[in-house]
Amino acid sequence: MANQQESGNVASKENLRRLIDGTLAWDTAKRLMRMEPKDEDRFLKYIEVLQERVSWPEKILVRIAEHLYVVRKDDGSRVIKCTCGQELGDYRINWKLSCRVRVRKTEAEFAEVISLRYSLPNPDLVEAREFYCPGCLTQLAVEVVPLGYPVIFEVLPDIDRVYREQGHPLPDESPEWLEDRTNELTGQWGEGGN
Ligand SMILES: [Zn+2]
Repeated sequence: MANQQESGNVASKENLRRLIDGTLAWDTAKRLMRMEPKDEDRFLKYIEVLQERVSWPEKILVRIAEHLYVVRKDDGSRVIKCTCGQELGDYRINWKLSCRVRVRKTEAEFAEVISLRYSLPNPDLVEAREFYCPGCLTQLAVEVVPLGYPVIFEVLPDIDRVYREQGHPLPDESPEWLEDRTNELTGQWGEGGN
């Protein structure tokens, strides 16, 4: 009984808030991760904490990066949304393609962001791409890749599975949510669309 109570406290919403902020004491964080059985509602509590921190009403399904969420809109679509409210399209399309991009291609440009001279990438081989939210200009990602390498699609989360495994299956489950639709967007570009 005492144990259960202790576990309940460890998984409190306040501790989840601290965990998200990175201010939870490490030993408490470890206890939280090792708790058995896991608190059934912890996932939903975590989502609630995230939801309380944003100013828009769309329901958060998952967070995929510090400032990026997959949300469900009223029309049933699942889109990427930045903390600032800017939307970056269907989550099955690489959100980076909706960003403002800055590409660093020269040693001088690399040196602006990397101070250790010996660790500068070789501009004959690689380029650095910085992706910014078009709404708030927060830097959302950086990738250092071989020249001409396709824009990396970092994550296509299996959201249906996450919710099913947490015991809260989503009403709109469908295999279609796992289809990478990035080519649909780049295909439109090829046709001269936007
Ligand atoms: Zn933003």
